[in-house]
Amino acid sequence: MRERSPFNRCVECEETITQPICGECLAVRMKNMVGEYDTKLAKDIAGLNVEGETKCIFCGEGMGLCAHCFSKDIYEYLAEKNIKIAKEFLSRFDFDLRRVFI
Ligand SMILES: [Zn+2]
Ligand SMILES: [Zn+2]
Repeated sequence: MRERSPFNRCVECEETITQPICGECLAVRMKNMVGEYDTKLAKDIAGLNVEGETKCIFCGEGMGLCAHCFSKDIYEYLAEKNIKIAKEFLSRFDFDLRRVFI
């Protein structure tokens, strides 16, 4: 059997997943937001889903990576490419990211 994240915890930060939105569903929303500014950059955002016990509120898939960790990865990528878009991203997808970056 494959390893799964136990007790609804995130595989990366090990915090309990409190905002159950999976990496695939988040990526769709992030692509839309970034696409308003830069369609080329939006294409680079890829969904990522890790299996887990928590069910995504949008698609119902099991997920094991929390919204905070997923958006942190995307933010870091955006910050390298375009800091203006990265800042806008933070204001829209603030899953406790400001605690880390500001
Ligand atoms: Zn996490
Ligand atoms: Zn989902």
